[in-house]
Parts: sequence; C-alpha cells; structure tokens
Amino acid sequence: MSSTRVRFAPSPTGGLHIGGLRTALFNYLFARKSKGQFIVRIEDTDQKRFVSGAENYILDALDWLGISPDESTRINGEYGPYRQSERKEIYQEYVKELLQKDLAYYAVDTAEELEAMRERLKQAGMVNLHYNSLSRMTMSNSLTLSKEEIENRISSGAPYVIRLKVPAKEEIRFKDIVRGFVVVHSSTVDDKVLLKSDGLPTYHLANVVDDHLMKITHVIRGEEWLPSAPSHVLLYKYLGWSDEMPEFAHLPLLLKPDGNGKLSKRAADKAGFPIFPLNWTDSESGVVSEGYKEKGYLPEALANFLALLGWNPGLDKEIFSLEELENNFSLEKVGKSGTKFDIEKARWFNQQYLNQKNDLELGNWLVKELSTKHAITCELETASKISFALKTRVTFLHEMLQESIVFFEKPSHFDEKVIKKKYSEEGKSALKAFINNLDNSITEGEAIKNTYSETLNNLNINPGKYMQLLRVSLTGAGGGPDLGVILEILGPQEIKDRINFAIPLFNKVKK
Ligand code: GLU
Repeated sequence: MSSTRVRFAPSPTGGLHIGGLRTALFNYLFARKSKGQFIVRIEDTDQKRFVSGAENYILDALDWLGISPDESTRINGEYGPYRQSERKEIYQEYVKELLQKDLAYYAVDTAEELEAMRERLKQAGMVNLHYNSLSRMTMSNSLTLSKEEIENRISSGAPYVIRLKVPAKEEIRFKDIVRGFVVVHSSTVDDKVLLKSDGLPTYHLANVVDDHLMKITHVIRGEEWLPSAPSHVLLYKYLGWSDEMPEFAHLPLLLKPDGNGKLSKRAADKAGFPIFPLNWTDSESGVVSEGYKEKGYLPEALANFLALLGWNPGLDKEIFSLEELENNFSLEKVGKSGTKFDIEKARWFNQQYLNQKNDLELGNWLVKELSTKHAITCELETASKISFALKTRVTFLHEMLQESIVFFEKPSHFDEKVIKKKYSEEGKSALKAFINNLDNSITEGEAIKNTYSETLNNLNINPGKYMQLLRVSLTGAGGGPDLGVILEILGPQEIKDRINFAIPLFNKVKK
C-alpha cells in the first residue's frame, strides 16, 4: 500500500487565519498517526491576491506550533517544486490533454457578455446563474464559434479562458470521510475556468493536478471547499485518474463565539482575541494584528485547543500533548457540525500547560526576562521559587513576569480597602512586634511564618486576624500567592524594610 501523503495548500493571500492553522494541524496529525508525510504546497496562482511575506509567515507559523512539514518550499522533497507559480508548464500539458479529449473548451466571452448572460438567466427566473451545459451554447466559445473565429479572436489579443466541459446530466459521487457519501447532480456544477488568459491555471486545475502528481492520498481541508469537490472529482475522471483519486475529508466550520456564522477576523477583533497565530502586519494599512504567540499562548496549549475543535476523541480527558494527539487522532472522529470558537477554553488550556511546566525551566525564563525587560538581577533558585508560587495563578507567562516584580521592588500601590478594614493600633503593634522578633538568620518561609504566629500568640492576638494586613504590607495586594513563599523569597531584612515602609502609609489611609 502506498504511504499516506497529505497536504496543506494555503494561498499566500495574507496572514494565516486560526482556522487555516487548524486545517494544517489536522493534516499533520493525520500524517503522523498514519506514519505518512505532511506536505505544504503554496497555491499562488492568483497573482491579483498575492501578498508578499505571506508564504514565509505561514511556514513560520507551522514551525512555531510544532507541526513543520516534511516537504515544502523550504524542505525539498521528491515532488517539487512546491510553489505552483513554478509549475506553470505542468498545468499547460494537462489542459492540452483535456482540450484534445474535448473535455475542456476555449471561451472568449467579454465581461459584458458574461454579465448579459447572468441578467438573462435572472430574468428567466433561474437560481443558478452559471456558465454551464445549457448556457454555454448561447455564449462565445469553441463549442459555438468556428475554430478560425476563436483563433482570430485570441490572436487579436482578446482575453480568453479555458473551461471545464461539465456534462449535462450525470451524477457525481464521492466519499467524504467526515460526511459519508456525497452525491451532486452535474446540472448544478458550473463549467469552471481551468486556465486564465495570463496562462496561469485556476485553483481547481492546479490543485487536482498537483494532488495527483504529489501522490496525495487524503485531501483534508475546510468545509468551504466542499462545493468545489464535484468539479475536482470530474477532473480526476477526465484525466483518467479516478482509480487513484485521494479520499476527501471536509472539516467542519469554525463558528463565531456566539455560534452565529463563520469565524472571521472581524468577529475575532470584536471579541478581542487574535485571529492570526503570529503577529501579522497588513501590507496596505501597516496595521499590526497581535498573534497568539505574542499574546502569550504556548504553542502546545494552542495545538491542544485547536485539535479539539471538531475532533472528539471520545476519551475522558482534554489535555493531550502533541505526541498524544499524534497517536490518537482519527478523521472518523471528526464531526460534521460547525464548532464554536471559545477563547475562554483556549485560555484554560494555556493555564493548564503553564501549570505543568517545571519550576526550573520557568525560573530560567524568568531570570532572563527580569534582566532584559526590567534590569533586575535574580538568582535562578529564587526565580524558580517565584515561578512555583505564581504559575498556578496566571494564564500567561508575561503575567508571571509582571507579578514577579513585587518580589524585587516595594509595592507602589496598596489595597486601601483591606487597610481600612484591618489596620488598627493593635495591628500596628502586632506587625512591629513581629519584625522585632524576626532574626535575620531565619531564611525558611515556614520558619518566618512561625515567628509571626508565635509573636502574635504571645500578645494574645489570633495570628489569622492580621495575616492579610501582613500580606498587604509586603506586596500591596490583599490576595496573592502563598504567604510562606512570599516571606521566604523576600527574606527577613526586606520584610522588615517593607513593613517599616508600609506602616506610615497605612496610618495615612486610616486617618
Ligand atoms: N488554496 C486553497 C486554500 O487557500 C486550498 C484548498 C484545498 O485544500 O484544496 O485554502
């Protein structure tokens, strides 16, 4: 049996949308599960929509997510070139074959003629305003005009296209792994343009020819391509490739968070979440759209989140490492119905993955960030302790960095509500007594906390009564990570300095 080969075939028309990234991921996972190859083919035959930089962006985004292709414009394989604009001659050959077999034809209609055709069909009450087996006989093409006439028009520079000759009455059937059998009547399929006057093929022709030549076994793509599939199936038949036709799997749509319609950049902007995996700069407006990466999402968390958009493993768990996804993925478990894009769930995944990271790894990251972004020098051991204390409390790494600053700089802001509620003469004496009793040789958090408790017990004060006040005096906030950890990281001298610094401020608030 030939080995599984799948492809992700983006058009470089802009930044890769998150839905496209999901399509790429499903292709990658299917390839890995089947021990096959994952190919990226750049479909750049539409010169009008070409955006420079998009190709690199797409490949960078896949690398970042951890789903680098086995063959692409960057990693050459046996089936290159992997950029369609470099395969022009190949398509010409197949168009010739279709013309010779009378399965395609030249059309020289002007834009006005095409518009008049649509108007006529509309007047006649037709729903499909298609160039098809019926309407083509009233148009200017090689089926209605003589060979000489067509040649004359083309040589005089008139624009022409080559169209697929779709049969009038035929059932087109194909199997879709997600949807089961799909049957479409050819009367609803239009005579798609295969080659344009610029000599470049359209998506339909290039896509089918390349899937065949690149030995693609499964076409996994978004549901928006389902209506094109019948034309593709016909092309396979016309080119004599029906027996080797790839299997199709059209993935369910990603819907807006409210479930109303397809997820779009506009919807994402409105709801305040990224649509692109990495920062994307619009070449016309210069506007930068923040990516998932820059927003602080971890690639493994995003991959896990995306994998579950449409795929239901039917297992009693949600956290899957990329390796587990690769081992468990199956197209049979991909559902048909559209799936809502819930950014809260993406945040939850990020939190889970952040939580799982080991403290030393996070500590290393923190040491670097503190130094480069805040000019703060921190020992790895301390940074690891801080990471341990903070990682369960934040969703993103940059929040951890932000929250760690308080361990190095005295708070600039104090929670006045807590001060008003908890601060008193007794509280002040309690804090002062605590720092008086605190020996600078005590370094363990629990031991410092014990000193606090013993001091207050000796004063006949319940230690719990001023615990929150102690916290506010040290960090400014009424809540936060474990107090023992805070005490340990700050150490006795800094605790004393901060309490001495806070008390006069507390007095002011209380006045
Ligand atoms: N170039 C098409 C796109 O931009 C590819 C669709 C397909 O996978 O066949 O999505």
